[in-house]
Amino acid sequence: MRHSGTAPPEHRRGAAVTTHATRTDDAIALVESSTAHNYHPLPVVVTEAEGAWVTDIEGRRYLDFLAAYSAVNFGHRNPEIVAAVKAQLDRVTLTSRAFHHDVLGPFARELADLAGKDAVLPMNTGAEAVETGIKVARKWGYEVKGVPEDRATIVVAAGNFHGRTISVVSFSTDPVARTHFGPFTPGFTVVPYGDAAAIADAVDDTTVAVLIEPIQGEAGVVVPPTGYLTRVRELCHQRQVLFVADEIQSGLGRTGATFACDHDSVEPDLYLLGKALGGGVVPVSAVVGNRDVLGVIHPGEHGSTFGGNPLACAAGRAVVAMLATGEWQRAAAELGEHLHSRLRGLIGHGVVEVRGRGLWAGVDIDPALLTGREASEALLAEGVLVKDTHGSTIRLAPPLVVTRDEIDAAVDALARVLSERGA
Ligand SMILES: *Cc1c(COP(=O)(O)O)cnc(C)c1O
Repeated sequence: MRHSGTAPPEHRRGAAVTTHATRTDDAIALVESSTAHNYHPLPVVVTEAEGAWVTDIEGRRYLDFLAAYSAVNFGHRNPEIVAAVKAQLDRVTLTSRAFHHDVLGPFARELADLAGKDAVLPMNTGAEAVETGIKVARKWGYEVKGVPEDRATIVVAAGNFHGRTISVVSFSTDPVARTHFGPFTPGFTVVPYGDAAAIADAVDDTTVAVLIEPIQGEAGVVVPPTGYLTRVRELCHQRQVLFVADEIQSGLGRTGATFACDHDSVEPDLYLLGKALGGGVVPVSAVVGNRDVLGVIHPGEHGSTFGGNPLACAAGRAVVAMLATGEWQRAAAELGEHLHSRLRGLIGHGVVEVRGRGLWAGVDIDPALLTGREASEALLAEGVLVKDTHGSTIRLAPPLVVTRDEIDAAVDALARVLSERGA
């Protein structure tokens, strides 16, 4: 069942002012001196979390409107997920795929059923699911479609985000993600996002797949034009090309449906899943598809030591069981309506545009007022955690346990931040 996150009203959120060198400063200094600087986190050090709330090292509480990029869709320490993982911890956590264990079968069957597909190939991180999708599509292209050896191409969209491995950044259009990481993996054709005709033009006899996000998350929660996904589905079918939907962020309830593709009644050939699949506890990703596609992979050709491990499968089963009721998707749809109508009310008051679906919103702040980073820092001081994407865009994606009142509190905080800057 869906557990509501509740905030004790006596608890002050964020905004406490400290005047001396703080535990926060010390904790951040240790991270800065001890890790590679591949992230630029907001200056908050989380020590505990529950539902839609996190508590920092100073004891301040914040509403989490990022939810670990949707990995925490079901709320921090969701009781059903935690119970399933704790029970599994007392049985067996890792066998490798050299042996069978008793959780993979049920997890794979239940996940495949949720997606309306035959089978699952389990991995760990999202980027690994994308790599797996690429490998499956290429092998399918050579062995089923008959593409000449080493000629396979995959059509992708500009503005994409599919992860950080060499092959995945090879078809990124973000210079920050690519610069000085070459040489790159060949075999990708980039076309504008949301333009089905551009895909049709790019597809030829060497094309094995079209790989897209049904909503582009990191690009700023970009929803493609109505009919786009339907058209992509049709032309993949006509041209014998696999439609691979990266639903790592958009899938598993976030948009008010199990998959973002569901809004258009579109079924891709392969779903790439991750993030929320592990319940915010362990990394779990998967490629889900039918046997005629996934069946091209044979023993020894692909795998992962941790892929499909018992602990991951226990978390994944709990997630799939929750989504099977439809309750979470309905909550995301209803609460999402509220979030979007509240955010639309800020257009003209410091907000330029709002995009998204369900409990997922990309909010373009008037760049004359604040950058996305400045908006995120100002919201941090108000007790709301969000993350900027590019330029003056922030994205909001609270855990699906969030309440209407908590949505109101977060949007009110944003309104205050904007009006203080003269909006
Ligand atoms: C986060 C994300 C990935 C990569 O997942 P990791 O677990 O960070 O490797 C891939 N695709 C999309 C759409 C994502 O949002």
